[in-house]
Amino acid sequence: MEFRELGRTGLKLSCVGFGASPLGNVFGAVSEEQAIASVRLAFQSGINFFDTSPYYGGTLSETVLGKALKALEAPRTSYVVATKCGRYHDGFDFSADRVARSIDESLERLQLSHVDILQCHDIEFGSLEQIVKETIPALVKLKEAGKTRFIGITGLPLSVFSYVLDRVPPGTLDVVLSYCHYSVNDSALGDFVPYLKAKGVGIINASPLSMGLLTQAGPPQWHPASPQLKSACQAAAAHCKEKGKNISKLALQYSLLNKEITSVLVGMKSVEQVEENVAAARELATSGIDEEALSEVEAILKPVKNQSWPSGIQQS
Ligand code: NAD
Repeated sequence: MEFRELGRTGLKLSCVGFGASPLGNVFGAVSEEQAIASVRLAFQSGINFFDTSPYYGGTLSETVLGKALKALEAPRTSYVVATKCGRYHDGFDFSADRVARSIDESLERLQLSHVDILQCHDIEFGSLEQIVKETIPALVKLKEAGKTRFIGITGLPLSVFSYVLDRVPPGTLDVVLSYCHYSVNDSALGDFVPYLKAKGVGIINASPLSMGLLTQAGPPQWHPASPQLKSACQAAAAHCKEKGKNISKLALQYSLLNKEITSVLVGMKSVEQVEENVAAARELATSGIDEEALSEVEAILKPVKNQSWPSGIQQS
C-alpha cells in the first residue's frame, strides 16, 4: 500500500482510505460481524485511514467503527480516524455549542480519547458566514483542547472551499474532503488542486465510485444523480462487463492516479470489497491502469463529463 503525506499535518495516509458510511447501512444492511471483519482486513492490508460521521446511519457507523477499531487491539498511533460534525440524521447544526457536544458524543461512540481529523460536514447546507465566524473557531478550540489533532471541511460544490479558505487565517484549516469530483465521470477537483495546495491544506477525495454509479450493482435508490448521468454510468458498467472488465476497479485506479490527492476514500461493506480494492491499488502500482478500457469508458461518459447535482442551500 502506498502512503502519501496529508498537506502540512505530518500524517501519512494510505492512498486507499476506508469510507465507513456503509457501516451505517447506507448502502444496504451490513452485519456487525461483517463490518468488524472488513475493518480488520483493511487494517491488515495496510489501510490506516478510516472516515466516518455521526450522520452515517444516524450514528451507527461511528458506533460500529469504534467496536471494529477496538477489536484490532492495535496501537492508537497505527491508524488515523476522521469524523465530522454539523450534519445529523435530523438535520444540520453548525453552532459552536452543538459541535462541541458533537465531538464528545463521537468520541464516546468511537471509544477514543481523540480523533485525528474533525471536519464540518457538508458546509453548503449551513450559512458559510457562520461556518467561518463561529464553527471553525469552535473547531480550533477543540483542537487546542486535544479532542482532535486536525480540522477540516467537507462538501460537494467546490466553490464552498474557496469561500471559506479565502476568509479564515492561513493555516487554520488542515484538510479539505471533496467527494464525487475526482471519479472517471467527474474530475472537476483536478483543476482545483493547485489552489488547495497553495492554501496548504491536505486533500482527500471521497467516492471514487461516485457513490455506487460506477459499480456493476448500480447506485442506491437515494442517489441524487440525474437519470441521464445514471444511465450513462450504467452503460459504462455494462460495457466493462461485456469486455470482462471491472468498472469499480477501473474507477478506483483512475482516482488513485492523481498523487496530489492524499487518500481516496472508498465505502466498503464486505471483506470481498476490501480485497478487491486493495488488489486494485496493488495492481495499479505494479502494472498501471488498463488504458484501453479507460479510454472506452471515458468515451461513453463524455456526454455527462463533470455533470453534478444541486447540493445545499442558497447562500445570501
Ligand atoms: P463510493 O464511491 O466509495 O461507493 C461506495 C459504494 O461502492 C458502496 O455501495 C460500496 O459497497 C460499493 N463498493 C465498494 N467497493 C466496491 C467494489 N470493489 N466493487 C463493487 N462495489 C464496491 O461512495 P461513498 O461510500 O459515498 O464514499 C466513500 C466514503 O467517503 C464514505 O464512506 C465516507 O466515509 C466518505 N464521504 C464523505 C462525504 C462528505 O464528507 N460529505 C461524502 C461522500 C463520501
